[in-house]
Amino acid sequence: SFTIAIIGRPNVGKSTLFNRLVGQKLALVDDEPGVTRDRREGNARLGDLEFTVIDTAGLDEGAKGSLTARMQEQTETAIGLADALMFVIDARAGLTPNDRAFADFARRANKPVVLVANKSEGKHGEIGAMESYALGLGDPIQISAEHGEGMSDLYDALRVLMPEPVEEPEEFDDDDVIVSDEELAQRPIRVAIVGRPNAGKSTLINHLLGEERLLTSAEAGTTRDSISVEITWQGRDFRVFDTAGLRRRSRIEEKLEKLSVADALRAIRFAEVVVMMMDAQNRFEEQDLRIADLIEREGRAIVLAVNKWDLMERKPHLISALRSDADHWLPQVKGAPIVAVSGLMGEGIDRLMTAIQDAYAVWNKRVPTAALNRWFEQAVDANPPPAVSGRRLKLNYITQTKGRPPSFVLFCSRADAVPQSYLRYLTNSLREAFDLPGTPIRITLREKA
Ligand code: GDP
Repeated sequence: SFTIAIIGRPNVGKSTLFNRLVGQKLALVDDEPGVTRDRREGNARLGDLEFTVIDTAGLDEGAKGSLTARMQEQTETAIGLADALMFVIDARAGLTPNDRAFADFARRANKPVVLVANKSEGKHGEIGAMESYALGLGDPIQISAEHGEGMSDLYDALRVLMPEPVEEPEEFDDDDVIVSDEELAQRPIRVAIVGRPNAGKSTLINHLLGEERLLTSAEAGTTRDSISVEITWQGRDFRVFDTAGLRRRSRIEEKLEKLSVADALRAIRFAEVVVMMMDAQNRFEEQDLRIADLIEREGRAIVLAVNKWDLMERKPHLISALRSDADHWLPQVKGAPIVAVSGLMGEGIDRLMTAIQDAYAVWNKRVPTAALNRWFEQAVDANPPPAVSGRRLKLNYITQTKGRPPSFVLFCSRADAVPQSYLRYLTNSLREAFDLPGTPIRITLREKA
């Protein structure tokens, strides 16, 4: 399950937070004094969120004041096991050098971090919380683990980090899921532009808004609410997530050029189509790949925008290199559209807006069951699944349960016997056969009764 490690210097209240999250009963049983454990794990529950939580407090006592090698090791182990981190400070004590040392671990881990300013009951932690902005770990969540205050803020902060529960696709029911093309064409397409700091996201959004201002008459105006902006491009409506607005709110973070995974997730979850923007001068770096992975995991349509094209030379050569790099680094969204743009010069915007609409159409696409099963038979014939312990694995049929992204259920004799590699083969073949470039594709296995 999703695992969150609680880290921080000794005595900031990590164990109290752990106990609150896993429930008092288990904690009491576990809390034998004098037992040094490297870490405790428990099943945490916060509202409807369930996750595994790891406490690194086992060595609190002995390590007071200094960062011993063992504590460091223990923290690193916990970080290694975790999908996300809660970095805890004592908001009443303010920041100490030890906090900064632990914050370095948290930052280097390259995992989503929630900064928790503990001991904030009754506003006593305001100053410490303000100081903690300087850690560059985002907005502090003020809580009191002991008194149970601030838990709903903590819930909000953790919620956006956790994967959405995997939806069991419903049985195939055309009437329920198909939205007519006309209806789809009338809805604004929800778009987010994500990418590393300085990729040029804000510049592009500002450009889009500027164009919009030229295109629409004054009375139409643009509504600019806190999180999104509606624009019309050649008769089509788009609702664009306002990354700039987000940035205004977290200026300190921005200065430290930290990629906030929580911010990226918020934008991705808002959107139907996510434009992943890269700087043409350094492409497909680790953070870019992590963002692409988030987009795929969340099942959104993806368009790759390569920005600052005005600075590049040998462009035709570069375009073909980009294509093969993209398919190499992002095989899970093979064929994702790539558009070269310059947000600064306003170049490539038409192509970008067209690519967004195309990606949206593919993402919504539905494959008729008959055609699907004709392909399926051929694909299985051409490359049958491996036998499991001498018994043939039988694949019966496949049906699409929904679009957005295209999701299929494959009925078979034994779901646990279908290797991941075989599912990858089917996914790629399906992508080719029905022209589904770039979109995430889900195939769920179901055992035929
Ligand atoms: P964000 O962090 O992704 O929102 O990036 P910004 O929009 O703030 O841009 C970062 C820097 O890149 C700024 O100095 C921009 O002027 C510059 N920049 C953005 N787009 C382009 C572009 O298309 N060409 C060039 N040459 N510079 C750009």
